[in-house]
Amino acid sequence: MGIISRITSFLNSTAVEPVPKLGRNEPCWCGSGKKYKRCHLEEDDRKRAKHGRAACRTS
Ligand SMILES: [Zn+2]
Repeated sequence: MGIISRITSFLNSTAVEPVPKLGRNEPCWCGSGKKYKRCHLEEDDRKRAKHGRAACRTS
């Protein structure tokens, strides 16, 4: 026992990881060619807020 649960928790912790941080004026990570702030910034913020709330509730 041990190793599998370690791997699973490692995978879980990385799977939950949201999108990498980007500068607002950098090209969006989705490859649209738009600036991040014009593309996915709002959506990512919303996701981050959701995650934060969920983490607060569970911990
Ligand atoms: Zn985008």
